Amino acid sequence: MAKEYQGSCLCGAVEYTVKGPFLRFFFCHCSRCRRSSGTAHGANTFVRAGNVTFTRGKEQVKRFNLPDAEQFSRAFCSECGSPVPYQSRDGKVDVVPMGSITNFDARKVDAHVFWDSRAAWYDAGLEAPRKTAAELSKN
Ligand SMILES: [Zn+2]
Ligand SMILES: [Zn+2]
Repeated sequence: MAKEYQGSCLCGAVEYTVKGPFLRFFFCHCSRCRRSSGTAHGANTFVRAGNVTFTRGKEQVKRFNLPDAEQFSRAFCSECGSPVPYQSRDGKVDVVPMGSITNFDARKVDAHVFWDSRAAWYDAGLEAPRKTAAELSKN
């Protein structure tokens, strides 16, 4: 039986379950992912369409389809703005923002995509010192 995962937005108003398998897991460095997430890259996994079920707050989910794009969409909690899953505009897959999954596990990232669009500061970030939460809380 395929593993079932649970996810939620930051405020907890929206909760969902997703059934694997994860077809692909990409870090996407395109400018649309960077701008709409505010971070270096999107981290999305894809499952067969229909494998995501909202168990709470589905009516709170707001969706934005980028008008001049064929496929690009975002779905997010209208209360806290956290990305949540959505079905692709062609209906083929459900797109799941990996950071919203609660019981995540270790897994291979299939690829960095749109690598040539990555932020100019991304590579430098990989070289930065790594501090744990415990280290940060010392004074
Ligand atoms: Zn929320
Ligand atoms: Zn992207």
